[in-house]
Amino acid sequence: MSAETYTCGHCHFEFNKGVTACQGCLGTVIWGATQQEMHQAGQFMAIVGAVLGALLMFGLPELLNKYLGTSITLGYGLGFGTIIPIGIMGLIGYFWGSNNAAKEHRGKCRTFR
Ligand SMILES: [Zn+2]
Repeated sequence: MSAETYTCGHCHFEFNKGVTACQGCLGTVIWGATQQEMHQAGQFMAIVGAVLGALLMFGLPELLNKYLGTSITLGYGLGFGTIIPIGIMGLIGYFWGSNNAAKEHRGKCRTFR
C-alpha cells in the first residue's frame, strides 16, 4: 500500500497528509474544521439549545396547565434562576454544534486561496 495522498480541490495537485500548503497552487491546506466553522456551528446550536431550554421551562408548564389542568408555576418557581438551566442547555448546544462541525470535516482537507 502506498502512502495516503490527497488531491487539492483547486488544482488537483496531489500531496501527502499533514501538509499546510499546496505545492501546486500555493493555497493554504486546512485539515478538519476551522475554528470559525466550529464556533459558528456552536453558536447556532447554542441558540437552539437555549430556545429548547426556554420551552422546557416556560412552554411545558403552560401546556401541562392548559391541557392537564395542573398548576405548575412557569419556570418551576425558580424566578431568575430559570436562566441557569436555559444557559446550560445553550452551553450543551454550543459544544454539540461545534463537535458536530469537527466531526463533519474530520479526516478531510480543503484548500483555501
Ligand atoms: Zn492546489
